[in-house]
Amino acid sequence: MDDPITVTFAGSGDAFGSGGRCQACVHVRAPGLPPVLLDCGATSLTALKRQGLDPGEVAAVFVTHLHGDHFGGLPFLVLDGQFSGRTGALTVAGPPGTGRRLAAAMEVMFPGSSTARRRFAVEVVELAPGETATVAGFGVTAWEVDHPSGAPPLALRLDAAGRAIACTGDTAWTDALIEASAGADLLIAEAYYRDKAVPYHLRLADLAAHRDRLTARRVILTHMSDDMLGRDVPFETAHDGLVIELGRA
Ligand SMILES: [Zn+2]
Ligand SMILES: [Zn+2]
Repeated sequence: MDDPITVTFAGSGDAFGSGGRCQACVHVRAPGLPPVLLDCGATSLTALKRQGLDPGEVAAVFVTHLHGDHFGGLPFLVLDGQFSGRTGALTVAGPPGTGRRLAAAMEVMFPGSSTARRRFAVEVVELAPGETATVAGFGVTAWEVDHPSGAPPLALRLDAAGRAIACTGDTAWTDALIEASAGADLLIAEAYYRDKAVPYHLRLADLAAHRDRLTARRVILTHMSDDMLGRDVPFETAHDGLVIELGRA
């Protein structure tokens, strides 16, 4: 139980490939559990394989919201499992509406794929804001945030092995982020722009303004546009391939 949780930022970018980075895909390996993903953007298979991580081992994908750069990699992940002989179930846990949107995305990209026979089950767990569920050995709690995406957008908190990882997803500033990340070992925070007000997204300025209210032990910025990349910022920042370990406090 005292082994660390290993967090690999396989994809740390925004929707538009800024900095040549892959879209959101954070691989989390907790002791004694199969690995899971936090978000699965369209480029995630490439991102995982580039880091030497086996997509077939991923037991669950936790999805913050239903935009392509956060859930668009799921059709590829499912088909990769189908063609590589995967047998272990894959659970997709996301906002209400995830099951319908995942089937629609699969049909748009690979007609017939949503109903194809496979040797493994794809199970969908829809996370209601304000509730906690257990998925693949992780406790997961959801808060509704502010980022229109055809379904309630979520900030998520994962709990496993006595440690907690919170993720803002994409959102305008909301005090829900304070609660979601309270006392967490790690907060993965979107920082799309530095100062410019972009609707429904977090800026560095928002995080700096509320820094004292964010009580996570560690805050790492992701989802940065060219406006953020390459500039000095008073936070840790992610890059594709960043690996961190979360030990016991
Ligand atoms: Zn989004
Ligand atoms: Zn995004």
